[in-house]
Amino acid sequence: MKMENILHDTWDREHLWHPYTSTIDPLPTYKVDSAHGATIKLADGTELIDGMSSWWCACHGYNHPRLNAAVERQLHDMSHVMFGGFTHDPAIRLGKMLLEMAPDTMHNIFYADSGSVAVEVAMKMAVQAAISKSGDHRRTNFVTIRSGYHGDTWNAMSVCDPVTGMHQAFGSALPVRFFVPQPRSRFGGEWHESDIIPLRQILDEHTAEIAALILEPIVQGAGGMWFYHPEYLRQAVAMCRERGIYVIFDEIATGFWRTGRCFAWEHAGVQPDIMCVGKGLTGGYMTMSAVLTTAEVADTISRGEAGVMMHGPTFMANPLACAVAAESLQIMREQDMGAVVERMERNMRQWLPPAASLRGVADVRVLGSIGVVETEKPVDVGRFQRKCVDKGVWIRPFGRNVYIMPPYIIDDARLKRLCEALIELVKEEAS
Ligand code: PMP
Repeated sequence: MKMENILHDTWDREHLWHPYTSTIDPLPTYKVDSAHGATIKLADGTELIDGMSSWWCACHGYNHPRLNAAVERQLHDMSHVMFGGFTHDPAIRLGKMLLEMAPDTMHNIFYADSGSVAVEVAMKMAVQAAISKSGDHRRTNFVTIRSGYHGDTWNAMSVCDPVTGMHQAFGSALPVRFFVPQPRSRFGGEWHESDIIPLRQILDEHTAEIAALILEPIVQGAGGMWFYHPEYLRQAVAMCRERGIYVIFDEIATGFWRTGRCFAWEHAGVQPDIMCVGKGLTGGYMTMSAVLTTAEVADTISRGEAGVMMHGPTFMANPLACAVAAESLQIMREQDMGAVVERMERNMRQWLPPAASLRGVADVRVLGSIGVVETEKPVDVGRFQRKCVDKGVWIRPFGRNVYIMPPYIIDDARLKRLCEALIELVKEEAS
């Protein structure tokens, strides 16, 4: 193999699409050889401290002995069997564990393939239930807040932020949703009543058209890494309930302790009608998501015109994914996860704020195991990542957000090095 092929594979560059990448001028990609714990090893032997948990999902780190064993055990029974007409222990075990962790109003579970598909399913559920409940076929639209992110499939994309979600690229092909401004009252800061007014107006003007409000509770992830005030959720949910509008919480990024609570709704104490989970569900081992809902939503759908929930993916409740997810949740149950994440939060609150005084830095914020340095100008991702690799860390910024959400098993020394490297990189970007 040629030397240049070791880290940047030329065949890959020619033929494989990577996320959000041009085929003409692709961003560099680094070939990974293996990953253990919080360390990713590249093909040339370089070791990187993982700051990303592979986009929020590898929460117990890589190559976890118990997760490996769970996959192996399941493999010997069956790797897959259709869920239409069959059921199996991994699906039942995982379902029971999920309901124990979820809001106590949750009653029914729909397993899906990925976060985006979970959002599609949740939106379909809301429409089927809203029409069934009201008898009104106009109740098919959604309201959401700007700077959100819910996935890249069609309907999920329609409720992503219209600017960062690149709505103009798809023109009139995308359904048109109702957008209200992002709440500006910060998490942990003062509540400004003005934040909620635009939502009340839209809900009043369009009650008869809206099936549900969909949002990421407390933390807006890929749309802007913003942490907002729990009062927004409390008031938003109350307004929807008064008007018979369903509430969908997308907990795909925030779930499984990322924000310091098992799920982010707990910061506000208000429960949704429908909730999506994914990413960390399988400890990052494979793709899987779940949509949880109340018995009221589930039964209203079943009393509706179709009489059934109109969705059924081929790989629904894949036994391998269910088995590894159940083991991942079991690992969480056996620890004081609140304390684990609180320690990460305390450390990042100590090690990241020096960035605030740097030239070119607009804001620094930490919540749970998420640390964000917001820059004034967008970061050049290719250049930034080349420097990351030189420094032995893995951080992938987007837009004006340089952020980390490392695996929960990271030790203090590595977390400190990640924070230091992040600050060095931001400083170099600004100079
Ligand atoms: N919702 C949220 C809040 C997300 O952060 C993401 C992924 N970044 C998704 C949905 C989509 O998940 P997936 O990439 O698994 O389709």
